[in-house]
Amino acid sequence: MNFDLLVQAIENHDTIIIHRHVRPDPDALGSQGGLMHLIKETYPSKNVYIVGSADPSLTFLIEMDTIDDDFYKEALVIVCDTANAARIDDTRYDIGDMLIKIDHHPNVDEYGDIMSVDTEASSTSEIIYDLFLYAKNQGYKMNDQAARLIYGGIVGDTGRFLFPSTTKKTFQYAAELVTYNFDRSALYDGIYNTKETIARLRGYILQNYKLSDSGMSTIKLTKAILNKFDVNIMETGQLVGVLGDVEGIKAWAFFIEEEDDLIRVRLRSKGPVINTIAAKYNGGGHPMAAGASVDSWEAVEQVIHDLDQACISYTY
Ligand code: AMP
Repeated sequence: MNFDLLVQAIENHDTIIIHRHVRPDPDALGSQGGLMHLIKETYPSKNVYIVGSADPSLTFLIEMDTIDDDFYKEALVIVCDTANAARIDDTRYDIGDMLIKIDHHPNVDEYGDIMSVDTEASSTSEIIYDLFLYAKNQGYKMNDQAARLIYGGIVGDTGRFLFPSTTKKTFQYAAELVTYNFDRSALYDGIYNTKETIARLRGYILQNYKLSDSGMSTIKLTKAILNKFDVNIMETGQLVGVLGDVEGIKAWAFFIEEEDDLIRVRLRSKGPVINTIAAKYNGGGHPMAAGASVDSWEAVEQVIHDLDQACISYTY
């Protein structure tokens, strides 16, 4: 990818503020924090900030800065790993001098003055490493903290190098990143160690998911169930993959009831394209991992119907 405009924009701004999506995952934080360290290592005199609300289970990766609106004056704002503007954490993203999007999701919402979007990349963190390689001979410098975050982001978004999005390039970058000095075991522990409450809810999901003849699986996590297991909505993100290994499941959906009575839909697939279904309900995402929010259990039934149809018409 050509990063000339991006590199130029970073060069031209003294203050750079980096955002990412709401409910961050390791790739959102890894790309955001990795880019921050990369820029700081390269340009020690620039002011680089990372913003967004914290997810307590991921603060071991990196902690956010708290900044006033004034900081945005003449700032370059970079948004990592966020396909659509509505999902950007911290709505001040558009009050800076210039806006850049760096992402690996389909570019349906083309926000920003510059877009570095690569849907072939396994993760946005992989794109940050691409940027480093591109700009290396212009003086860009990697350091241990950046390597740790970028590696963590790649690990998170590839399901530990399992998903088909993992390419030869992904492995090459990972091989280079592990030569930096960071504690890989501690990083894996931080990402994958689960609280006992979440482990118990995983058991509930495996006991109670529904599987249709078409190969579609669903599970509904109501407020009552979440309360019973003492698991919050953010934490449910750690469980969405658990049905992926069950024999016969082509695609699956988690329906999670939120505090404001919206129902969050998390779709995953091993074949049928499901981001078109998410898009029908004003959501989006990747062909094999997508999401949306609906406002009733009737709408949930409609999503189930659509997913079932997608599984019926899909053949291996
Ligand atoms: P999640 O289930 O939250 O891990 O989301 C899976 C993928 O779907 C992510 O990569 C998001 O980009 C995308 N996604 C989830 N929810 C939405 C939404 N409401 N609108 C657009 N994209 C979404």
